[in-house]
Amino acid sequence: MITIEKLYKKFDDLEVLKGIDVTLEKGKTAVIIGPSGSGKTTLLRCLNLLEIPDSGKITLGTKKIEFIPSTKLKTREMMTFRKQTGMVFQGYNLFPHLTAIENIMEGQIVVLKRSKEEARKKALTLLEKVGLKDRGDMYPHQLSGGQQQRIGIARAMAMDPEVLLFDEPTSALDPELVGEVLKVMKDLAKEGMTMVIVTHEMKFAHDVADQVIFMDQGIVMENGTPDEVFDHSNNPRLLQFLNKVI
Ligand code: ATP
Repeated sequence: MITIEKLYKKFDDLEVLKGIDVTLEKGKTAVIIGPSGSGKTTLLRCLNLLEIPDSGKITLGTKKIEFIPSTKLKTREMMTFRKQTGMVFQGYNLFPHLTAIENIMEGQIVVLKRSKEEARKKALTLLEKVGLKDRGDMYPHQLSGGQQQRIGIARAMAMDPEVLLFDEPTSALDPELVGEVLKVMKDLAKEGMTMVIVTHEMKFAHDVADQVIFMDQGIVMENGTPDEVFDHSNNPRLLQFLNKVI
C-alpha cells in the first residue's frame, strides 16, 4: 500500500502540489489523469524522490519518509526508499551504448550487486515476458520506440520493485506502437503488479485501472473507480477535461 499525506511541492513561487492526500492499494493499478500542468508528473516523481517534496509524508510498503521544510534527507534513507520503486519514462531513457539485455542487467549488477549470470538469467526471463526474447543483443537505436519502451519496462521490473511508476509511457510513440506497450502493462496489471501510471490514454485507464485519480491545479479533485470517475462524476472540471480528451 502507498499512502501519500499532505504532500506539498513548489518550484520557486509556483505551487505545483497543494496538499495531496491519497492511498493506493497494493497489487492494484492506479491511473493519474488531468490537464497539462496539473502536477501529475511531479506527484509521480515525488514517489521515487526524483523530486523532493517540501513537506508531507509518503509511506511505501514498510518504509515511511517524512519531508520537513529546510531539512535535507539522508542519502541512505533516500536510496532505500527509491529502491522500492521502478520508473518507466516517457522517453525510455535507455543507455544507448548498452544492448537491450545489458540495459536490463546494469541496475541489477550495480545497485543490487547481483552476479552477471544471475542478472542475465533475470533479464532473459523479462525479455521473454515483454515479447522481445530475440532482441536482447540489439542496441536501442536498432529497436522501434515501442520495443525500446518494452525494454524500459523490463529494466524497471528487473529491480523487483514494490511499485512500478509510469510517466506517460506511450506519449512519445507513433500511434501504431502504443498498443504493444499498453498490452505489456495490461498483462502486468492482471498479474497483480502495483502500478501508478500517468497517462492520457483514457480508454486504457477506463479498461485497466482499479483506481482513477483526477488532478487539477495541484490537488486531487476526484478519486475513485473508473466507473465512478468516468461515468458517474458531476465534477464540472472533470467533465470539462473529459470532453476535451475523449
Ligand atoms: P503534462 O500533462 O503537461 O505533463 P503535468 O500535469 O504532468 O503536465 P507537471 O509536469 O507535474 O504537470 O508540471 C506542473 C507544473 O510544474 C508546470 O507548470 C511545470 O511547468 C512546473 N514544473 C515541473 N517541473 C518543474 C521544474 N523542475 N522546475 C520548474 N517548474 C517545473
